[in-house]
Amino acid sequence: MFGVIQTCPCVPVEWIEAHGVQASRRIPAVTTGSSGLPEAGVCPFARAFTEHVLAAGDGIIAIFTTRCDQMRRMYDAVVSRGRSAFLLNVPATWQTATAEQMFAAELERLGRHLQTVGSHALDRERLLAACDRAAVQGLSCADDASGRVRLAVTGGPLPTESGFEDLVNATGARLVLDCTECSTRMRRGEIDRDRLMEAPAHELARAYLAMPVIHQRPNHRFFAWLERELTEARVQGLIVRRYVWCDVWHAEVRRIADEAGVPVLDLQVNGDDDAAEPRTATRIGGFVEMLQRAASSPKWSSTCECG
Ligand code: SF4
Repeated sequence: MFGVIQTCPCVPVEWIEAHGVQASRRIPAVTTGSSGLPEAGVCPFARAFTEHVLAAGDGIIAIFTTRCDQMRRMYDAVVSRGRSAFLLNVPATWQTATAEQMFAAELERLGRHLQTVGSHALDRERLLAACDRAAVQGLSCADDASGRVRLAVTGGPLPTESGFEDLVNATGARLVLDCTECSTRMRRGEIDRDRLMEAPAHELARAYLAMPVIHQRPNHRFFAWLERELTEARVQGLIVRRYVWCDVWHAEVRRIADEAGVPVLDLQVNGDDDAAEPRTATRIGGFVEMLQRAASSPKWSSTCECG
């Protein structure tokens, strides 16, 4: 039996597993590969995921989503190399019944595609069990800051192999919250088990459209979610860690700074070897110093350190 690789949090892995297919969510570290993929104008994370797909060999179907133009482009690159891939249309809108119907139809299309290459038909009991498991992965930050400045990060995917957490902690601060786009905090809505049995694709579509992802239009739920997470974790400063060429996060930095309620550092990175980027370390260090000064000052203000 073949397997499925995907990275986007909007892909319902439960749906794939309910067809008897193993679905792996990969958040690969960004390194320079030798795949021949273009580097100029390409999000390093989208490229890293694609290199991972190309290296995975046959017997794998890669799922890309329409959540960003970069991933659409990488889907084309994979298909043009004769590899098996599926482009899942994820609606940017979420407030209408049409959006839910469209996404449910996409899940059914995915199910049919899996069956044409050898999967089982949808098994509803298996779907229920997969929804109960709902595996997620990502950085699990320590909550104990022991008097250090409490920092959070949002932005593009943060692979667990990244040296980012160590880099932040080396400045004397503590990374206490990961709100990046593939983090464990990014979760779908609750599942109604009865509705799942009656209309599985629709219920899963509804639950996944309830995820507060930044690409949605409107995306005020993302901002409300972020503010709530920051407040609950008593965060003192937020780093927006975004990959070069990522328009999705770049376009939202100003608004994040306006609405986060804590000072924001806009940090553009080329890859995940943050420790090897002296400028990254310097900018985080300066941000932490500013927060330490602010914490000892009676006047607290929200600022954006834009790069
Ligand atoms: S970081 Fe930005 S461009 Fe890259 S995959 Fe995520 S949303 Fe797309």
